[in-house]
Amino acid sequence: MHTKSHLAALLLACLVSLPAARAEDEPRVVDPGPPPADAIQLFNGADLAAFQGRNGGEARWEVRDGIVTANHTGDIMTRQAFGDCQLHIEWATPSVVVGDGQGRGNSGVIFQGRYELQILDSYQNKTYFNGQAGALYSQYAPLVNVSRKPGEWQSYDAIFHAPRFDAAGKVLKPGTLTVLHNGVLVQDHVEIKGPTAKNPTQYEPHPLKVPLVLQDHGNPIRFRNIWLREI
Ligand code: MG
Repeated sequence: MHTKSHLAALLLACLVSLPAARAEDEPRVVDPGPPPADAIQLFNGADLAAFQGRNGGEARWEVRDGIVTANHTGDIMTRQAFGDCQLHIEWATPSVVVGDGQGRGNSGVIFQGRYELQILDSYQNKTYFNGQAGALYSQYAPLVNVSRKPGEWQSYDAIFHAPRFDAAGKVLKPGTLTVLHNGVLVQDHVEIKGPTAKNPTQYEPHPLKVPLVLQDHGNPIRFRNIWLREI
């Protein structure tokens, strides 16, 4: 037999499992941090426990002094899969400039292993516009170039909405991306056309949640303070 407190607990359990708050509900209280209290810390300076190698095995990027650096051991990806999310990531290209164009300070945040928000040293470094820092690679150039100098810390704050597919694999709703680069809007809710590494781009159905990938393009890009909120 259910007591009143049991029923109240059941009701509460139902309420907290609702996917989205209703307009009349009071917004949840979240300590803003940083990082926000409800964020998943992907890298907080200690280790790469949240990641693995993209092609299996441990993530082997170098962790030292609270910073993780791409070291030519391949892309890394989160152990956890994510769908819609808010991502914060801080990164720096090498202070000693080597190479030019796409060969200079290249990395990337690849949502769901398919949709790349480009990382590049775009400080006085010409390349095709939809391949520079802040671009959704090969699809959308950033609205402005707010790149800091080589070696300086920069940030991305991104809001990603995953594409939706029907049971037959047809696109119900394309993915979207909004990005602030160093606090400045560079992608304004753009509609993702498909995987950014494919030309022509064409969606292929995939699960709603897929791991996040950080690209190892052979340049020693440094990262710190990586966190994500599921939305
Ligand atoms: Mg890249």
